[in-house]
Amino acid sequence: MRTDERTTLIDELVLANHILFNRGVVDAFGHVSVRDERDPQRFLMARNMAPAQVSAQDVMAFALDGTPLGEDARKPYLERFIHGSIYRARPDVGAVVHSHSAAVIPFGIVAGVPLRPVCHMSSFLGDGAPIFEIREAAGPENDMLVRDERLGDALARTLGASPAVLMRGHGSTVVGRTVRHAVFRAVYTEINARLQAEALRLGPVTYLSEPEARGASLANESQIDRAWELWSCERPALSVL
Ligand code: MN
Repeated sequence: MRTDERTTLIDELVLANHILFNRGVVDAFGHVSVRDERDPQRFLMARNMAPAQVSAQDVMAFALDGTPLGEDARKPYLERFIHGSIYRARPDVGAVVHSHSAAVIPFGIVAGVPLRPVCHMSSFLGDGAPIFEIREAAGPENDMLVRDERLGDALARTLGASPAVLMRGHGSTVVGRTVRHAVFRAVYTEINARLQAEALRLGPVTYLSEPEARGASLANESQIDRAWELWSCERPALSVL
């Protein structure tokens, strides 16, 4: 990757942080990373800070085991292992969003009500998102956080080939091929959760069928930049931060 391409990648990552805040996916917590196209065994992510306040100089590089690279002594996110383990398990993944986006959480804690696509924009959810039960990996004495590589690997195993994994009593993690793809999915995962919860209060819900989910997901692939361009326009609101 040439220097200008790397700069573009970092710029996209910074913008992703701001968009995810503007769209209500992250607040003071949550993080987004991108695989380093120059070296797929590394990923880029901000230091430990609120996503809305991230700028290019806050971006750190990590090995897939979560070790900060370049003798960078700045404080990293505790849950950086989520990202490294998923990149190792999923060569198709180029970006990861971990958040505590509120509407998704109920679907990780109520047995028998899986998150499933109710709307064409969230059709990528396909037949639903698996739920990561941290007690199974960490035992009953745990602090809910994916704070080491072993737990990261367990989360990646639960994610499997899915676009998203719900984390019981905690949040969710969404993956994509690119930063834009992962951000799109993270935003619409939250929207789907809101819509599904609303619909469930009204009565029996008709979900997208498997062919509908597949077809709509394919149709949306060419629309991701349109959403990104719009959401990028909200960036100036953060320049005062
Ligand atoms: Mn978390």
